[in-house]
Amino acid sequence: MLSQLRRIVQDVAQEPVLNNALAGLVSNVKNALKTECCSVYLADYEQQHFMLMATDGLNPEAVGQVAIGFSEGLIGWVGQREEPINLAQAHLHPRFKVTPEVSEDRFSAFLGCPIIHHRKVLGVLTIQQGESRVFSEDEESFLVTLGVQLASVLVNAEMRQAASQNSKQQKNTGQLQGLPGAPGIAIGEGFVLEPSSDFDAISLKKVDDPEKELSRFYKAVKITKAEFNRLAERMAGHLPPDALAIFDVYHQLLDAASLGNEIEKQIHEGWCAKSALKRVVEKFARQFDDMDDPYLRERGTDIRDLGQRVLNHLLDTEQRHHKLPEKVVLVADNVTATMLAEIPRAQLVAIVSLKGSVNSHAAIMARALGIPAVMGLDELPLFHWQSQRLIVDGYRGQILVAPAEPILAEYQALISEDAQLSARYQSEMHLNAQSACGVPFSLMVNAGLAIELESAQPSYTDGIGLYRTEFPFIMRNRFPTEAEQIELYKKVLASHPTKAVVMRTLDVGGDKALPYFSIIEENPFLGWRGIRLTLDHPEIFLVQIRAMLKANIGQGNLHILLPMISDLAEVDESLRLIKQATFELTDELAGTEVQLPKAKVGVMIEVPSIMYQLPELARKIDFCSVGTNDLTQYLLAVDRNNPRVAGLYDAMHPAVLRALHQMSLQAQGLQLPMSICGELAGEPAGVLILAAMGYDKFSMNSSNLAKIKWLLRRVHLSELQLLLPEILACQSPKQVRLQVQRFLDQKQLLNQLRA
Ligand code: PEP
Ligand code: MG
Repeated sequence: MLSQLRRIVQDVAQEPVLNNALAGLVSNVKNALKTECCSVYLADYEQQHFMLMATDGLNPEAVGQVAIGFSEGLIGWVGQREEPINLAQAHLHPRFKVTPEVSEDRFSAFLGCPIIHHRKVLGVLTIQQGESRVFSEDEESFLVTLGVQLASVLVNAEMRQAASQNSKQQKNTGQLQGLPGAPGIAIGEGFVLEPSSDFDAISLKKVDDPEKELSRFYKAVKITKAEFNRLAERMAGHLPPDALAIFDVYHQLLDAASLGNEIEKQIHEGWCAKSALKRVVEKFARQFDDMDDPYLRERGTDIRDLGQRVLNHLLDTEQRHHKLPEKVVLVADNVTATMLAEIPRAQLVAIVSLKGSVNSHAAIMARALGIPAVMGLDELPLFHWQSQRLIVDGYRGQILVAPAEPILAEYQALISEDAQLSARYQSEMHLNAQSACGVPFSLMVNAGLAIELESAQPSYTDGIGLYRTEFPFIMRNRFPTEAEQIELYKKVLASHPTKAVVMRTLDVGGDKALPYFSIIEENPFLGWRGIRLTLDHPEIFLVQIRAMLKANIGQGNLHILLPMISDLAEVDESLRLIKQATFELTDELAGTEVQLPKAKVGVMIEVPSIMYQLPELARKIDFCSVGTNDLTQYLLAVDRNNPRVAGLYDAMHPAVLRALHQMSLQAQGLQLPMSICGELAGEPAGVLILAAMGYDKFSMNSSNLAKIKWLLRRVHLSELQLLLPEILACQSPKQVRLQVQRFLDQKQLLNQLRA
């Protein structure tokens, strides 16, 4: 049953044209359950009805014609109840509605099952039969399981429909709801970057020009064959002849008489070269996987390997084939720092990351660049995005696909308003960061992505409050050497010569992977991350610390920050290694004039355990910096990178705010300098609440800095302090936001904070 279900869902996912996908679905389900009729209805929330989209058993003419209101008939009832309804004699049920167009008089038994995605009913799947009987538990559970699996495939049905038509002929703008990743609005063209040539990442697609696809395929095969010849030559002296024979097998497999022939056939059926290759490779590899003979089973691996090589070459030519549009909306499964580096900054207008959530590092990178981002649209295969005209609304987390002219004009006006507001904030950038009553604040930048951009106006900031060193590590294909690190850190320290620069030691793991050091874990955010990893690899930690200390020679503004500390022993061990590196360097410098300045050492407060050990911590270190991004995820037990639980991830949760308040009081008592470097500090509501709690050092993305300074300059601390008890008494993040909004509204600031 499982494999049947998987195939049915895969077939739906792989068929680009929605109507064909649903037509295939209903006949597959009908056959699998040996019933007499299967139909699928999809919800239309604008019209408030379910539309019959496909049927195998009812009148086919009714498809696309018969709509059943949300509160009508058995279909509406399944939608309202949000559970399966199983009836032996459907026509006797009081909710039964006669719909003559569908011709269902001959059916008595009815089983309807809702298709629900994130609490929203997307449609209803039904099976019907002449015999009046209740469908069995097995049949019911088959349909329920299918409904659950289909939901994520069908969630963006509108977009699939829209994208399968020529976008120029479209009358309606498609709208997709994701998660707001970075604020702002942009209009541009979808440009898809696929991370690796992995078959799983390839979405199936049909195209109009098979000849072009065939020529691409032949070209890739030619390059692959040449590659095999080179490999065979290179291996000739090292492998026995029978092992070398594998290259001949590969050659033959690629020939027209073998796999090549199958792939050509698929291309003639309309599949693009990549899709044809994927379909054939997966089909044959699966057949070999299922064989009993271990030798033949192994051949499945050969086919995959061969397919992978051809795919690499196909993707190479394809990436070259798509011209970079003038205004790029970068779309990727998982946007990485390396991908961002591939697009010239002047052309990059927005980011769409299908995976990830509000505080994933891809979203933080977008905020650092000051461009909008929408996250978590996982269900829509990548190819749907290529070359589409898109409006990216990073405030609401929405994407408008192929927008009509009047909509474009409306958004264009919003973009201009946003620009005017930014100019207003910028005009005060040179003024002091202080409240309306004159209380000073220290506003610093979070950097690491691209130092030139992020510290554009160093003279108007109070230094770098968080330099994420992992990005330079991610951009390479090996660990950077000590010399490379020294050069880089020198530039960073010199960018704010008289101000503090807080450099965090390598914090990889979680959603930040090094391309050359893969960590596969079931639970990466609770796993080998940050300091845990670097203390297990002192050779990496020590090289980095030495590089930082050396870069600090002649500068003296280095602050070292330790990420993901959950235990005091980690602090002790880090301090021991820092001391060791300091001794080594002092030794090296003995006899020279050169002085090694002492660097301050601090700890990130982002794991809840360490909040309860502040007194001990205060005796060991010079400062700490609160990482509200991780603190929120660990306090609330919500993965910051998982769009499914994005609704639960909120730094404005009263529990998070109370923890921050208690910490502020405790740090003041301990005279432990404490700053905030999580994203909360760069949010207008967040910074006001934090200031009310007594925090006065905030580090944020440079794109937020002008706005935050502008805002702080307009509030009195005493007003914020009056607001604080009301905030701390709130029971939900929503209430907190309302309180702050009311405050901003009273001060006539609300409508000046965004277009
Ligand atoms: C944080 O966790 O709040 C933080 C600043 O670090 P990062 O987002 O890089 O994990
Ligand atoms: Mg963190």
